[in-house]
Amino acid sequence: MTRILIIEDEIKTANYLAKGLKENGYSVSIAHDGKEGLFLAMEHEFELVILDIMLPKLDGWMVITELRRLYPALRILFLSARDKVSDRVKGFELGADDYLVKPFSFSELLGRIKALLRRSMDKKINEIKIADLEIDLLKHKVTRCSQEIYLTSQEFSLLVFLAEHTGEVLSRTLIAEAVWDINFNTDTNVVDVAIKRLRQKIDHDFNKKFIHTIRGVGYVFEEH
Ligand code: CA
Repeated sequence: MTRILIIEDEIKTANYLAKGLKENGYSVSIAHDGKEGLFLAMEHEFELVILDIMLPKLDGWMVITELRRLYPALRILFLSARDKVSDRVKGFELGADDYLVKPFSFSELLGRIKALLRRSMDKKINEIKIADLEIDLLKHKVTRCSQEIYLTSQEFSLLVFLAEHTGEVLSRTLIAEAVWDINFNTDTNVVDVAIKRLRQKIDHDFNKKFIHTIRGVGYVFEEH
């Protein structure tokens, strides 16, 4: 589970954030001042920190400076009532990955958090492994049970998109837009054809299948 640390002295805001994030499947810890926040960040491992600026004991500027020194890969999002451009610039200069001004909408915050977490994954991951399927994103190499599978570049893009959304039901339109970057509107037959070819290559010779059709909806990618 992705761990998020909230460093926020307004108890109401902190609790509101924690509640919303937990409902969205994140594991959340709260610190009510900068010193406690830094302590928690060093005690436990977090993927992302939501950081206020005006904080007791240590302010957000001091906290981010220390966090950046210790954890270069940690995602840090400033959430502050300070809306001056100079504050934002300072925030980014000190290493913030994002800066959101209060009052904020929770859905926007959530969207930004997801984007940041995705970005940090992109940096680390150049290989996707799902069960016996391995996708090397740098070499464009695909193997199943260590057996190499040769895909066209379009089939490869399709496979990567599906694998990145494992377990999600994907409509033909969504797949078409993501993989071919075009809006197909009605004619999503091209997706079915491409899926059929990909199936032939990655699923046909194996008992367990990755690509499953959800009738009337689209496809889901998961091994069973
Ligand atoms: Ca504050």
